[in-house]
Amino acid sequence: MADEGSLSVGVPRETFPGERRVALTPPAVPALTKAGLRIIVETQAGAEAGFLDEAYREKGAEVGSRADAFGADIVLQVRTFPANPEAGRPDLDLLRPDQLVIGLANPLAAPEAVAELARRKVTVFAMELVPRITRAQSMDALSSQANIGGYKAVIRAARLLPKMMPMMTTAAGTIPPARVFVLGVGVAGLQAIATAKRLGAVVQAFDVRPETKEQVESLGAKFVEVELDTSEAKGTGGYAKEQSEEFLRRQRELMARVVAASDVVITTAQVPGKKAPVLVTGDMVKGMAPGSVIVDMAAGQGGNVELSRPDEEVVVNGVTIDGHTNLPSTVPVHASQTYAKNLTSFLLNMYKNNALTLDTEDEIVRESLLARGGEVVNPRVRQALGLADPVPAAAAAGAGPGKEG
Ligand code: NAD
Repeated sequence: MADEGSLSVGVPRETFPGERRVALTPPAVPALTKAGLRIIVETQAGAEAGFLDEAYREKGAEVGSRADAFGADIVLQVRTFPANPEAGRPDLDLLRPDQLVIGLANPLAAPEAVAELARRKVTVFAMELVPRITRAQSMDALSSQANIGGYKAVIRAARLLPKMMPMMTTAAGTIPPARVFVLGVGVAGLQAIATAKRLGAVVQAFDVRPETKEQVESLGAKFVEVELDTSEAKGTGGYAKEQSEEFLRRQRELMARVVAASDVVITTAQVPGKKAPVLVTGDMVKGMAPGSVIVDMAAGQGGNVELSRPDEEVVVNGVTIDGHTNLPSTVPVHASQTYAKNLTSFLLNMYKNNALTLDTEDEIVRESLLARGGEVVNPRVRQALGLADPVPAAAAAGAGPGKEG
């Protein structure tokens, strides 16, 4: 157990509807206690993921009430208030100035909620904004969760499909392999391709970033070649740029034939901070054979599929369109395990030699910092709120439970 007076880390139970993940798993506790932190887990916080209170205690954590967990110096969450604005609202009164809150925050979609946290003078970090640099790979929650989502999208499609995925030659005849088309080859798309291949499907894929062709082929899938000028499609940080409506219209036209010939379409296309591009129209769905399945992994960001609905299974002409918006939560053990690793790596980057240092010279700290000293400090969130740039000096100097950098 850590010394009296050392900083405490609280882990509340998640309250977002259907959320089964937990921010810290029992095996991740010792990494923090060894560093001198005291861990307080809300009772039943890990229950939905199968991690019982006793397992936390065995690893050196204390188990307490929700107020105990929110009373800690540092609060670790899967979904902080902006990513859980309704069910998370009562927690606002449990927060106190200068406390650190770290978790997913959906900051560009929920800037007002970020401002609300700032007004309470808490210091907030968004795990989505951790830069994708080599040093931060173990903190990359977008990747750890998208990887799980990509896997589960294919498993859901397999469950919904009235066919089998692998080719089988049997005495009762030959069964052809299912044809799977993956649209968008980022982290989720690559895992969807790998999973569909393992199930024996014939897999095709497309992304506007030309370098994905080699990645698709290295997984044994076919890259769909179309006459589309994608030389300008790559944005910064390895992400795609937003495409013009004319580009997307042409893309849909060229993809319609591949979509129609597929048993399963998995869409994962995203452009950071923007509504997801519509890649599959209602007419394209009507061109598919009855029984086909689409999993729209972008359903929560406006959807890649015109007819998808968030968290619904829509059936159109016999084609099922699955719009589950929280696939990682359906694999809560490994989603929590990997997310906990992301969080502990992130926190231990700031907590060294028994001291918390918010060093904004470190790009990991600077880019993921949302609010501090009563101000929203992230430039993009400030812009979304119509706030003046730059951040007032008082907030730049900041406050928090530890030493300042
Ligand atoms: P994302 O979730 O933002 O988007 C998913 C995919 O959709 C992207 O590949 C994007 O190019 C694609 N897309 C956008 N518009 C499209 C369209 N009209 N048609 C088809 N596809 C479209 O992306 P992500 O999964 O977060 O990954 C983005 C990039 O980040 C990748 O290059 C990945 O390799 C890179 N990455 C780097 C690191 C690292 O270096 N540490 C870690 C993770 C990911």
